[in-house]
Amino acid sequence: MDRALCIHGHFYQPPREDPWLGRILPEGSAAPSVHWNARICRESYTPLARARRLDGQGHIVELLNCYEWMSFNAGPTLLSWMARSAPETYARILEADRASVKRLGHGNALAQIYHHVIMPLASELDKELEVAWAVDDFTARFGRAPEGLWLSETAVDTPTLEVLAAAGLRFTILAPSQAVAVSDDGRKWRDVDAGSLDMTEPYTVALPSGRSMAVFFYHGPLSQAVAFESLLADGENFFRRLSGAAGRGLLSLATDGETYGHHFTFGEMALAYVLDQARSGRDGLSLTNYGAYLAANPPQRFVRIREASAWSCAHGVERWRSDCGCTNGEHAGYNQKWRAPLRQALNLLKSRLDAHFFEAGKGLFTDPRKALVAYGQVMAGTVAQEAFEAAWFSSASKAAGRGTAWKLLAMQAWGLASFASCAWFFDEISRLEPVNGLTFALRAMELARATGMADPEPEVTAILAGAVSNDPAMGTGRDIWDNMVRPRRETPKSLVTQALLTLALEERLPSGGQAVVSWPGVAVTVRLDPPTGNAWSGTASICYHLETATEDFFVTFHPSKTGEPFDGCATMEPTTGGLEEGFCFASVGLPVNKRQALADAFARHAEAVFFETMLAQSATARCLVTELQEAQHTINLAPLWLHLWPGLVWHDVFDLPLPEKRAALLRLFLMEAGRDSPVKAALEARLAAETTRRIHLPDPDWTLLARLLHRTADLELHPDWWAAQNALWERRPFAGTMATFAKALGFAV
Ligand SMILES: [Zn+2]
Repeated sequence: MDRALCIHGHFYQPPREDPWLGRILPEGSAAPSVHWNARICRESYTPLARARRLDGQGHIVELLNCYEWMSFNAGPTLLSWMARSAPETYARILEADRASVKRLGHGNALAQIYHHVIMPLASELDKELEVAWAVDDFTARFGRAPEGLWLSETAVDTPTLEVLAAAGLRFTILAPSQAVAVSDDGRKWRDVDAGSLDMTEPYTVALPSGRSMAVFFYHGPLSQAVAFESLLADGENFFRRLSGAAGRGLLSLATDGETYGHHFTFGEMALAYVLDQARSGRDGLSLTNYGAYLAANPPQRFVRIREASAWSCAHGVERWRSDCGCTNGEHAGYNQKWRAPLRQALNLLKSRLDAHFFEAGKGLFTDPRKALVAYGQVMAGTVAQEAFEAAWFSSASKAAGRGTAWKLLAMQAWGLASFASCAWFFDEISRLEPVNGLTFALRAMELARATGMADPEPEVTAILAGAVSNDPAMGTGRDIWDNMVRPRRETPKSLVTQALLTLALEERLPSGGQAVVSWPGVAVTVRLDPPTGNAWSGTASICYHLETATEDFFVTFHPSKTGEPFDGCATMEPTTGGLEEGFCFASVGLPVNKRQALADAFARHAEAVFFETMLAQSATARCLVTELQEAQHTINLAPLWLHLWPGLVWHDVFDLPLPEKRAALLRLFLMEAGRDSPVKAALEARLAAETTRRIHLPDPDWTLLARLLHRTADLELHPDWWAAQNALWERRPFAGTMATFAKALGFAV
């Protein structure tokens, strides 16, 4: 195949989940978004799924799903967040893979190392787990086995390729600098470098086991130009550069996917332009993906890879274990001597966890190692816990050891999560990424202690004491452990505090019933008797995701009488016996992001309640609006009506019109009050969301929706119709009254 083109995006976010709650907590630096996953999703992942293609008049001719025409990988940690929090975008990604399979016989999606660990630095066990779990996760999501896998940071060595080959994977993608020599016959070798390597064909790596792995090398200079030069500023220029570089064989580019839209605003539109030109066959280009190209063009030559090398470190894989000098240039003069002790500390912990797992697991699993490998299917949701127990738990563990067995599996998963590459990538140990890695290690330690392992914390923190921060105020890794990592820990007390406060703030304390406060990682079930005075009593039961053991407490709850929720108090006593403990919520010391999450929950609830009340009042007020009188320019006593403004707008745009002279007076007021309204943006967002919701209904009222667009424009309101356009695009073809609405919404009809 000549002039074939494949553009690959590696989509990845450092794991930000709190390892107890399983949820990403608010991050102030990402405002106005709640955290960075949400922010980057809004800027890049979602726009790529719905990139606008416009005609000469600026009307939308197509919402292009770029994922359908590019190669991509997005690992389990990002996709599991997206499935929960951006389901529309997630659905477009799955749909894109299905469409590419249909078109090319091979899917655009590649698997990715499960926790984005640096494979050459991982133990033999961890290598196997990272690949097996990645394959399970991919298969569950995409409904097919992966053909290719993206190695974190393209970090590779021969043992890693052996694991990939053993797992049935057929290819990976590397940087051209990772090739050392090529051969036509596997006997006579010729040295190559990034400049002399022919990147237009896949190669075979012959492995010691007798297996082999195909490797594609992406075009280095052009990929650099996309990522770091302004190639995305102009779609036509981007296309010409690609067309100029394409020739015999395959031209493939690989960059971080976030380049499109996050690093370069509207980069997704430049990409959409290029993909559209290429799919129409301009200049004889044909879009393909790696799987399809490999099937049609099996490797003719062999390559030797540079052992333990990666795409973002000139020193092999030193960036993830030593002071090699590679950073993103965050701070002049910072060193990375902390990297080595951080790696050593986590390696030591994992070796202790492994030993404990196999020792404690001997009596609990029929085959501890195979059970651990198969645990990926439980995390992926393809095997139910009961079925897993039937397959892998020994008869002893089916009784008393059941809870312990599940904790051991979770312990190993968190131990692995602590190796996510981002912890070492930047220039300072007190950054969010290393602190997150250490937090995952703390969670693994907690599970280790709970299953009878000798406390590894003293050994681990002794090594961390040798990791010196560049910021003297931060001290060493041990100080960071004490001051930044340990305070994040959840305890039964902190979980019950958050559960009771959430129920109280959202006005859903169960009187004589039960309520569940759940996060993706843990659920607290609260049962309360009807209150006596200001005192509630009942039980609280804590259960972690994919565990079976619960922690149960008798609780009493005394809500605050002062209006300050943290003045509330509670008592807890284990139902299995033990001491009762009383405490005030202020004394629990919830960290700022957990207090922020409570504030967000309260603000959402309060706003929803306020809006409903105001909407009902506005419906009454609207009926009382009188006819416009001569020389009148707004409603009498207009300041009293101001707080009803959003509701009056709402009824005006969604309901039938009022008699003309009454409507005229109302409009005068709405225009004038809206001009400087501080709640205008919030109302616009709500109008856009409601419109989108109505478009998704089985039989939308297109006439009403078209009228709504005109009325909001008349009132000088400008909601962002982006999501509404996306929803409408799903309902093509446009016809009849729907076409009228589509045109009003910006489509070329
Ligand atoms: Zn380096």
